[in-house]
Amino acid sequence: MVADMTDVEQRASTGVLPGWDQVDRLVVDAYGYARADRSGQVADYIPALAEADPEWFGVSVAETDGGLHHAGETGVEFSIQSISKAFVYALVCEDLGHGVVRDRVGVNNTGLAFNSVVAIELNDGHPMNPMVNAGALATTALIPGQGPKERWEAIREGLSRFAGRALELDEEVYRSEAATNQRNQAIARLLDSYGRIEGDPLAVVDVYTKQCALRVSAADLAVMGGTLADGGVNPVTGERVVSAEVCRDTLAVLAASGLYERSGEWLFEIGLPGKSGVSGGIVTVSPGKAGIGVFSPRLDSAGNSVRGQIATAFLSRALGLNVFASAVHN
Ligand code: GLU
Repeated sequence: MVADMTDVEQRASTGVLPGWDQVDRLVVDAYGYARADRSGQVADYIPALAEADPEWFGVSVAETDGGLHHAGETGVEFSIQSISKAFVYALVCEDLGHGVVRDRVGVNNTGLAFNSVVAIELNDGHPMNPMVNAGALATTALIPGQGPKERWEAIREGLSRFAGRALELDEEVYRSEAATNQRNQAIARLLDSYGRIEGDPLAVVDVYTKQCALRVSAADLAVMGGTLADGGVNPVTGERVVSAEVCRDTLAVLAASGLYERSGEWLFEIGLPGKSGVSGGIVTVSPGKAGIGVFSPRLDSAGNSVRGQIATAFLSRALGLNVFASAVHN
């Protein structure tokens, strides 16, 4: 997949990143390589998402030492969507601990669509995984706070600490999804019928819909991923957001189920924990080294950004990030 590896030194996940200049050049190369692809479709099941320009494309890398790299439209903002699940999960683990969250939410891949009701029924009413909607709703309900308003504020502030800047709600996307999310309401009510969600299920859906409508850019995603790569310390602000143990747990869940039903293929090709969202973002984490943020709205049939996958695969190989590779592979 990588066009020309001849001038790239042999690298593997156990080593270190190349120097700043070389990473910078490879980010530009990854952007140029993936940009040629025009396949996939912009999501339209949330009406406001259909307004995205299909040509938008940005690639950012945030190194754990604070070095930043950008190519393309890395400042364009879009709604974070499902990528929020990764960071809300980390915040809940930070508050409640590994065991409680594992028992309440689960960590196994469902093998079914992200908004599957069947997955809940097949598992005796228990959510199975925080990266699909049932588990994500159960996770959002566990965020500490007196009522939905406080929970929403805790999520907005927590995700802002990951990004290193105050993230804002995209009102249009929020309203558009809130008017059309009967399926998520059904999932929350089903969990409630099994006693598996805290509080009023529809209020939980509302907070979840807001968390999905937070505005981020590819540059923000790189810093958010860089915080998980850096053991919970934001590499730009220097602030500790969550513990190193929480990062480890979150990355394990992302590796198993961050890319919808294509999580196995993603791990096979890219070999890194990542999380995608239907607006076209993907955050990828190379533990100890860097976070990668990509944004391009055309999606494959599972809901993953096509160019985002191509650019991330390029960088994983060129920078030697695949955690399963003990030697460089082309
Ligand atoms: N807010 C979307 C939903 O729950 C997120 C979907 C996604 O990005 O996978 O339907």
